[in-house]
Amino acid sequence: MSHSGPKIRIAEHIEIAWAADTHHRLACPNCGHNGDAAKLLDIDYRPPDAEHFYQIHICSACTALFFDNVETMDYGTPELIEIGWHIYQTQIGAGIWPITEPLTRIAKPAGARLLEIGGAYGFGLDFGVRARGWVGEGYDPSPLAEFGIRELGLTVTQDYFEEKDLAKGPYDVVIATEVVEHLAHPPGFFQLMRRALADNGILMLTTPNGALVAPAQAANILLPTLSPGAHLVLQTAHSLQIALQNAGFSHVQILETDMTLIAYASAAAFTLGQDVAAGRAMFRQYLVERGRVAEPESDLRFGFAGRGMFEAVQDGDYDAAEAAWSVLVPAAKQRFALDLNSMTALPAATARASLADLARIIPLGLGMILYSRAIYLLCRGQKRADVLPVFRMSLAALDALQGALAQRSLIDGLSASLLGATKAEILLCLADTAHPDTVAEAQSLLQQDAASITIIWRAFVSLVSSGAFETARHLQKALELYLPDNSFAFELRRDALFSLGVLALQDEKYYPRAAESFRQLRTLFLNNQADPGNMFWPAVRGEVIALDRLSRRDLATSLLSELIPLHGGAPVDLLERQRAKA
Ligand SMILES: [Zn+2]
Repeated sequence: MSHSGPKIRIAEHIEIAWAADTHHRLACPNCGHNGDAAKLLDIDYRPPDAEHFYQIHICSACTALFFDNVETMDYGTPELIEIGWHIYQTQIGAGIWPITEPLTRIAKPAGARLLEIGGAYGFGLDFGVRARGWVGEGYDPSPLAEFGIRELGLTVTQDYFEEKDLAKGPYDVVIATEVVEHLAHPPGFFQLMRRALADNGILMLTTPNGALVAPAQAANILLPTLSPGAHLVLQTAHSLQIALQNAGFSHVQILETDMTLIAYASAAAFTLGQDVAAGRAMFRQYLVERGRVAEPESDLRFGFAGRGMFEAVQDGDYDAAEAAWSVLVPAAKQRFALDLNSMTALPAATARASLADLARIIPLGLGMILYSRAIYLLCRGQKRADVLPVFRMSLAALDALQGALAQRSLIDGLSASLLGATKAEILLCLADTAHPDTVAEAQSLLQQDAASITIIWRAFVSLVSSGAFETARHLQKALELYLPDNSFAFELRRDALFSLGVLALQDEKYYPRAAESFRQLRTLFLNNQADPGNMFWPAVRGEVIALDRLSRRDLATSLLSELIPLHGGAPVDLLERQRAKA
C-alpha cells in the first residue's frame, strides 16, 4: 500500500497528493538504473469525460522524475483553430524570446547547418535562419508545423526525425525546445541527436526543471511543470547532465532560468556567447525586420512588429521602436481601417467580442502596441496629458483581449501584467493634469492591487509639485497618505516627505506637520548614504519656514548654524537669514 498525504487541488481538474516514504524497484527511463525509486506524488487528473491517474517516481541514481503512465494526450485540437487560437498565438501569445534567447549564445557562423526538432510554429528555426544566417530545416509531426511551412516559409518535414533521416546530416546545430519532457525514453533521442551532429556540432535543448516539483512549490509553477498527460520524464540539471554524457556528449553546460533548464551539449569543447546586450539587439532587429518583410495584412506583421515595438521600448531602443511603429501604422490602416496615429477610441464592437470576432476588428496585440507607443512618447518628452488617450486605448484593448480569452477560461500573462502597468500610467497622467478623477482612479487601483500604493504616492508627489494642492489634499485624506513606508525606494520616500511638507505649509493648521515632515526628510538625508540630489537645501528651507511660522525662530536659527558649515552650497536666502540674525 502506498502512503500519500492529503489531496491538494492545483487546477480545476487536477488534484495531487505528495507521497510519504514509498519506494519501488523500477527501471529509470533516463539513466537505465534498475533499482530503488522513491514515489514523489500521485496525480488525479479528471478533465471532462476522462479520468487519468499518474504516479511520479524519482530515480535514486540520476534524480530524473518519471511518470508511470505513458498514455499521452492528443495534440490535434481543431477546435482551437476555430476560436482564433492561431491568430492569438501569432500576434501576441507565443513567447518568442524564451525560444530564441538560447540561440543567441551559440557561436556558429552564418551558413552553419541547423536542425530543429519539434519546433511547433517554427519561431526557433526562423530565428536561426533569419537572424543567425544558418541554413535550417525542421521536423515536427504536429499540425502546428503547417504554420511554419506556410506562413514563415520554413522547410519542415511533418514527421518524427528518425534514423533514416541521418543521411541528411551532419548538422552543426540541433535545437529541441520543450521536447524531451514529452519523450518516454530520452536517451534514445539524445543518442540519435549525437549521431545527427557533426563532431564539433552543438545540441541546444530546453526543458522544465524537475527540481521545482516539491511540496512547497506554488500551483502556478507546479501545473505547467507537471502537465500530466503531456510530460513523461522531467529532468533535473543533474539527470540531464548524466543522460547527455551517456549519449556521447562529453561537453555539457546547463543554465537554469526561473522554470527552465537550458542545456548545451557537444562532443567537442565549446564556448557560449556572454554578450547579453548583443543578443537582445539581435532579437529586436529580428522582430522588426521580420514584421517588415511579412505580408502587410498578415498576423505575422502585427505579431513580429508588435513584439518588436514592445521589446524595443523595454530596452530603450527608440530607433527600433520607431521602425516597428512605421511597419505597424500602414498595416493597421489596410487590414482594420484603423489610423494608429490619429484614432481616439477603439471600435465599439471590441467590448465583449469573442476572440475570433476581436481578431477581425483590431490587432490582438493592440494593447501591447499602444502601451509601448505611449511609453515611447513619454520617453521622447511628450506631455502626459497628450499621452493619456493612448494609454486609455491601450487599456481598452487589453481589457477586450482579456475578456475574449476569459470566455474560454484562458488568460494572457503579458496582457495581465500590462493591465496593471497601464492603469498606473493612467493615474500618473491624471495626477499630472490634476484631473478631478485622480482620487477615484487611485482608490480603484488600490482596491485591485495593494502594491500600487507606490504609484499612488508618485501621483501625490506629482499633484503637489504641479501646485494642485486641493486635489493632493483630497487624495491624502481618501487614502491616508501621511507617512511613506520605510520599504519604499529612497527616491520615492524623499519625494513623498518633501511633498507632504510642501502641502502642509499651505495651511496654517498643518504647520506642525510640515515641520515634522521636513525634519524626517533631513534625518533621512543625514543618516542615509543615498544621494539627496539637489534636495538637501530645499528641504532645510522648508523646515526653516515651518519653524519660523510656528514662532520657533530660535530652533530654526540653531539648525542653520549647525548645517551651513557642515554642508556646502547653502543658498543665498538661507545665508542672509543667518547673517541678519548675527
Ligand atoms: Zn535515472
